[in-house]
Amino acid sequence: MSEGSFIKKELYSQVKLVELIKRINARYRYKDIELWILGSKVEPRTSSIDLRRVEIDLKRTSYIGELREIIAIEKSRGRKIALIPTMGYLHQGHLALVERAKQTGAFTVLSIFVNPLQFGPNEDYSSYPRDMERDALLVDIAGVDVLFHPTSEEMYPRPMVTYVEVGQLDTVLCGATRPGHFRGVATVVSKLFHIVQPDLAFFGQKDYQQYLIIQRMVGDLNLPIEVCPVQIVREPDGLALSSRNVFLSPEQRQEALILSQSLNEAEKLLRAGERSARVLETQVRERISNESQGVIDYVEVRDAQDLSEVTEIESPVLLALAVRFGATRLIDNKVMEVDCSCLE
Ligand code: AMP
Repeated sequence: MSEGSFIKKELYSQVKLVELIKRINARYRYKDIELWILGSKVEPRTSSIDLRRVEIDLKRTSYIGELREIIAIEKSRGRKIALIPTMGYLHQGHLALVERAKQTGAFTVLSIFVNPLQFGPNEDYSSYPRDMERDALLVDIAGVDVLFHPTSEEMYPRPMVTYVEVGQLDTVLCGATRPGHFRGVATVVSKLFHIVQPDLAFFGQKDYQQYLIIQRMVGDLNLPIEVCPVQIVREPDGLALSSRNVFLSPEQRQEALILSQSLNEAEKLLRAGERSARVLETQVRERISNESQGVIDYVEVRDAQDLSEVTEIESPVLLALAVRFGATRLIDNKVMEVDCSCLE
């Protein structure tokens, strides 16, 4: 199969383009060809940008076999491969991972797959936001080399009997409140690693526990992959970007600011000399309960390396929380050192 046959070009009419640009919250100027996506200026990679059409020049495939062929070609040219696993409905947080991957010069693969295995029976698998057309435009503009968006049938053609068990890292924080979640995550990431065989894989610290679990899995299973963490990207007012933020009502969106604010205050307490993990947790819990309708899943200080329990803070710690606003569960965290240089 020739390389060219993978290239899917899409022409957008002006109407469709304007509608897409509205949906991705982009600012678009014609004369000097400036494109702003989600508040940041981007160098358009699309092969043609004008007011009449945008040509998407992205390699994209839903098929494991095709993806493997694309990657084999790049590997035979000596390119390193970077993988960015996502569930789509992309935002600036995901694009920060793309930017970091591109900085390495590697051939960049972004996957979009809402993985049924990591959702519990009463969780939001079916309502999780999805918009492949919008995402394809975003990843093309961001300079992703290939978009892999398999169906569930492609990823799970028959019932699974083999899983990646996560062990003790799965028993705390989100693992405790979402049983089976990290088994599903580790299993699908392991499958993606075997499909893509990347040299580098990028994960956001927004999902700090996930990042640690993947890093540990790569070590335990001797996978030749460098796991690269990327700092949390926030809205200007502090809210951590999340695909699920779209479900917040304006009031909930406003109230959710208490999450990052209370984390910042805990950090100030630490800086002022407080060393008790329980005191920091209590302070954060009280602020959230007193100043919002948010229902706390957990607020916990844990060791930043292995998530073990901490009483007195001496080495880097993770202060992590999960809070529900209505049906929407948000997570946030801060990594802090006793000298309080923020490691987030
Ligand atoms: P998701 O699509 O939510 O599964 O996220 C895909 C990847 O993007 C994960 O590695 C996340 O940690 C990362 N990510 C999501 N939101 C953010 C954010 N606000 N800042 C940095 N990374 C993020």
